[in-house]
Amino acid sequence: MIITDTHTHLYIEAFDEDRHEMIERALAQGVSRFFIPAIDSTYTKAMLQLEAAYPKQMFLMMGLHPTHVKDNYPEELRHVERMLSEHQFYAIGEIGIDLYWDKSTLDIQKLAFRHQIQLAKKNKLPIVIHCREAFDEIFEVLELENDEHLHGIFHCFTGTLEQAHKAISYNMKLGIGGVVTFKNGKINKFINKIDLKHIVLETDAPYLSPVPYRGKRNESAYIVEVLATLSELYGKSPEAIASITTQNSKAIFKV
Ligand SMILES: [Zn+2]
Repeated sequence: MIITDTHTHLYIEAFDEDRHEMIERALAQGVSRFFIPAIDSTYTKAMLQLEAAYPKQMFLMMGLHPTHVKDNYPEELRHVERMLSEHQFYAIGEIGIDLYWDKSTLDIQKLAFRHQIQLAKKNKLPIVIHCREAFDEIFEVLELENDEHLHGIFHCFTGTLEQAHKAISYNMKLGIGGVVTFKNGKINKFINKIDLKHIVLETDAPYLSPVPYRGKRNESAYIVEVLATLSELYGKSPEAIASITTQNSKAIFKV
């Protein structure tokens, strides 16, 4: 069984003590493809080191995370562009809008989001969207940029069935992670109405641990809990769901 974790921050400090063991635990569960979203330039070196240590398993993204869009964002965007010209990346991400942490930066978050969508199209790459309390704002930008080149993943999708259909209409897959295992996570109520061809798996490690690890540090091995929940909700074997979602990830990332 090949499981693909389409969103995991394996390079960050939370794993400094046991990174190798943690990755080995994931590999032992069949998780052998890891897509690594960027945050900002301060993490680039750690991401490149991770890729050098596991060149066949790690696939890096490049981008500026919406909660890290600050006054220096033009400089950060230049870093993204420079890295794209120097190194192979598989997506622009994670990018988007987050109005939970800071509403005052909405204008520059929108500018950075739109600029990075255009970069993705120019480089023929998918985008990986981070959306927190910002569905309307995100859809507004996607509408402006909607064309045949726009495609990617709506990471950690936690919206309604209607918002799911809308995201899919912009050529997005839905990234499903730990939230689907929460009793009050809401998406478990309707996700099986969405065809599996639109779904990819993710952990967002070290955040958003699935049940029974909720509240603890998340790691990529725990993706099997997400798989088990989807298996129940769709009435299909974990092997079948791992296979379909891995195929979906290949279609998006071209690897
Ligand atoms: Zn993330």
